[in-house]
Amino acid sequence: MKPMERPYYVTTPIYYISGSPHIGHAYTTIVADVLARTARTFRPTFFLTGTDEHGQKVANAAAAAGKTPQEWCDELVPRWKELFAAYHVRYDDFIRTTEPRHVEKVRRVFERLQMSGDVYLGKYEGWYCVNDETFWLESKLVDGRCPTCGREVQWISEDDWFFRLSAYRDRLREHFLAHPQWVQPRSVYNEMMSILNEGLDDLSISRTSFDWGVPIDGGGVIYVWLDALLNYITAIGWSEDDARFKTWWPAQTQLVGKEIARFHTIIWPAILWALGESAPDLVFAHGWITVDGQKMGKSVGNAVDPFALAQRFGADSLRYFLLREAPFGSDFSYSEEKIAQRHNSDLANDLGNLLQRTLSMLQRYRDGIVPDPAGGSDAELARRFAPLPMVVRDRILDLRFREALEGVWELVTALNRAIDERKPWTLHKEGRTGELNAVLYDLCEGLRWIAILLHPFMPERMSEMWQQLGIPGEIDEDWSSSLRAWGGLLPIGQTALAAPLFPRVELPTLA
Ligand SMILES: [Zn+2]
Repeated sequence: MKPMERPYYVTTPIYYISGSPHIGHAYTTIVADVLARTARTFRPTFFLTGTDEHGQKVANAAAAAGKTPQEWCDELVPRWKELFAAYHVRYDDFIRTTEPRHVEKVRRVFERLQMSGDVYLGKYEGWYCVNDETFWLESKLVDGRCPTCGREVQWISEDDWFFRLSAYRDRLREHFLAHPQWVQPRSVYNEMMSILNEGLDDLSISRTSFDWGVPIDGGGVIYVWLDALLNYITAIGWSEDDARFKTWWPAQTQLVGKEIARFHTIIWPAILWALGESAPDLVFAHGWITVDGQKMGKSVGNAVDPFALAQRFGADSLRYFLLREAPFGSDFSYSEEKIAQRHNSDLANDLGNLLQRTLSMLQRYRDGIVPDPAGGSDAELARRFAPLPMVVRDRILDLRFREALEGVWELVTALNRAIDERKPWTLHKEGRTGELNAVLYDLCEGLRWIAILLHPFMPERMSEMWQQLGIPGEIDEDWSSSLRAWGGLLPIGQTALAAPLFPRVELPTLA
């Protein structure tokens, strides 16, 4: 453990509010929440999320609904906040790009880029996808349509401001070569490297054909992607509170979906360098949740209502599923059947039954009181799992969530095995009190470790488990004290046998 490590700053993309949120939005934010909750166990942490509210697509959606863009945003933003609350996400700040604290700094960025000569006026002629708010070269179109979303593109011809992106190509290539881990996973790194090898055009960073955006003196609005990217620094006091800004920037982890990796790994560092700031340490482009091989999302019409899902399976169970089902970074296919299977096997059977069996034996043999092991604790168990907290923490911060959970499950399995092998019911029948106390204590202590280690993944369920184990107060989130050594649980706690923590769910029946 390195207590003096730099404070930890993690971001999600800010979400483009042209409609209601879906489970994909919850996914990225849950991942950031697990990272932030884990980082908070040993260092100062800041977790930023928010909404991207400008741009033509938002203006169009608002107009179609008969509202002003601002009204439209104000009505939808609470849906995002409700979604994150429903999934127990604890962010430190939620930024909206329509807030004055953001808008004024975006204008300042533009002025600085004008002064430094990084932007110039020119004529933009080319294709534009409104759905993705992306400019496309003719050569990149697929059958004349947007290569990302497959929609029709518009021809745009306007006088725009351009950012000298091409001037940063060599520096970008050098940065990629010197920091081969800065973009992950490797497939995305390679894709970005090939874009850099092909060469970069300057980037149009203003639009004049509509006005829903940060205004530019002399006309037009700032391109929504430039506006949006800047949230990562405007929220933490760039150009306003230098000490605060320097505490958090550069971010350690910026999470993005792979479809927006190019903006975050090519345009974003170039903008930062133009402002004299550093690139983030890591941009991680995760995979997609797919249904029938297609990316889930509103635009492909297969969005699943994330509120209904949380109600059906439990928000913590969904959190667990999303991080356990596939290695982080790759796509994974979603089905309610898979969620139900994962829930029943891992949570209801392995973990839920372990807790239930332990508490009911305590009830039967010890009136629910955690006994004193009197030095009889299983030394092998203690030795084997002493390194587990460090292993779990490192894996989480390396974004290897599945492996982190597998590590915790070794302890779950070991405790289930301890019940089968040490047979508390036989110890009770034969009056071997010392041995019975020791095994019951070890089970409770093991469950205490599990509650702490799984708390970043399943905050609500693990807090409930903590209470059932009769431990006073909230879960101790300082792992260096709470998980220093096996045996931290004080005997005499009054446990409470309650309803199952993870009630089994019925598999969806096939129609
Ligand atoms: Zn598109």
